[in-house]
Amino acid sequence: MNTIAGNLQLVRDRIATACAASGREMSEVALLAVSKTFGNEVVVQAVAAGQHAFGENYIQEGVDKIVALRALLASAALEWHCIGPVQSNKTRQVAEHFDWVHSVDRLKIAQRLSDQRAPTAPPLQVCLQVNVDGGPTKAGVGPSELLALAQAVAQLPRLRLRGLMCIPDAVEGFAAQCEVFSRARGCWSDLRAQGFALDTLSMGMTEDLEAAIASGSTLVRVGRAVFGERSPKAVATP
Ligand SMILES: *Cc1c(COP(=O)(O)O)cnc(C)c1O
Repeated sequence: MNTIAGNLQLVRDRIATACAASGREMSEVALLAVSKTFGNEVVVQAVAAGQHAFGENYIQEGVDKIVALRALLASAALEWHCIGPVQSNKTRQVAEHFDWVHSVDRLKIAQRLSDQRAPTAPPLQVCLQVNVDGGPTKAGVGPSELLALAQAVAQLPRLRLRGLMCIPDAVEGFAAQCEVFSRARGCWSDLRAQGFALDTLSMGMTEDLEAAIASGSTLVRVGRAVFGERSPKAVATP
């Protein structure tokens, strides 16, 4: 087994253990492998080890990878998720290449994504990024503005609203992590109670996936535990 295959198995084991600890089925929690800063060859290794959903933060880097790997692995049915900030001037690339966007926090961006999604492509699958732990400068829609944004996004013809995403600042300890994640879970449950057919709660990364799963995550976004440490130089390139 190569390193990536071994790492993926360790992450799947962590997910299984966390699911068992909270009485959930492993099939309720998807694994998104976050390949940002890593080259095509490690994605190929992950695909060979059974992984098919990948997350990218930086739009241009992601698009380059998507184009190259869709050509190289044409039969692999890969799924690409944009999990990084999306500025207006990048929406076209996202709409044309990605399958999912987790980081929608403004109606203007959602509108552009819908307008720019090709009529022949499946709808773009969308999560709203919710700011559950920060001040007004942090990315994500505030919980008090979430309902209005969800209502507006749900009307857009070329998007399909699937759920919420959050990226809380790192906090120490399982209980404190769960406390923050359960705020996102609360927002998600409220929207479902309002009639939104949401099935995705995107939360949990390498350091805190256990707490996220205990708090109701349906998708964990894991980078370092799958691909190893990122080089600081590569991380700095947006
Ligand atoms: C980088 C990143 C991840 C993965 O983080 P790791 O700590 O490497 O698991 C998940 N989500 C987002 C939004 C990220 O930017």
